[in-house]
Amino acid sequence: MTFNGVVSVHKRCQCGNEMKLLLRTVVYAGKTEIANVPIFSCGSCSQSEVLYDVKRDLKELIANLGSNPDEHPIRFEDCNELVDVLYEVFTQGLAYANVRNIEAMLEERINQLLDLYLLARSLSDRHWTAEIEKRLTQITSFSLHAYRSNAK
Ligand SMILES: [Zn+2]
Repeated sequence: MTFNGVVSVHKRCQCGNEMKLLLRTVVYAGKTEIANVPIFSCGSCSQSEVLYDVKRDLKELIANLGSNPDEHPIRFEDCNELVDVLYEVFTQGLAYANVRNIEAMLEERINQLLDLYLLARSLSDRHWTAEIEKRLTQITSFSLHAYRSNAK
């Protein structure tokens, strides 16, 4: 099987093996399910870690849930634009979820958001403009460069 330069998204674990990027459901306070959290997970040891770029938003989300969260599940992709793109790629299947496809999807989403941004600006809709700005920030600060371990 050849990969033609297409690599899945992974990083090196402390144990030396590869951690793969997956979307996982996280249960907060034993109650609230947060679905589709991007997590690097190691197949050989039990190590796992949340994708750095979404950590802050996840913390914010958990802080807003407070100490007594209700029980209905949260879709993390509804809270973060980057997660929404990853979700879209991952729902095409794990084989599809590689650096090249994610980068193409990110670029497409950024272009869509820029179009929306111009529209919102031209309508002088401040609330909408601010919302799109926030979504753009979540997505444009992300780079897959660090996870291209095969692509040298
Ligand atoms: Zn490991």
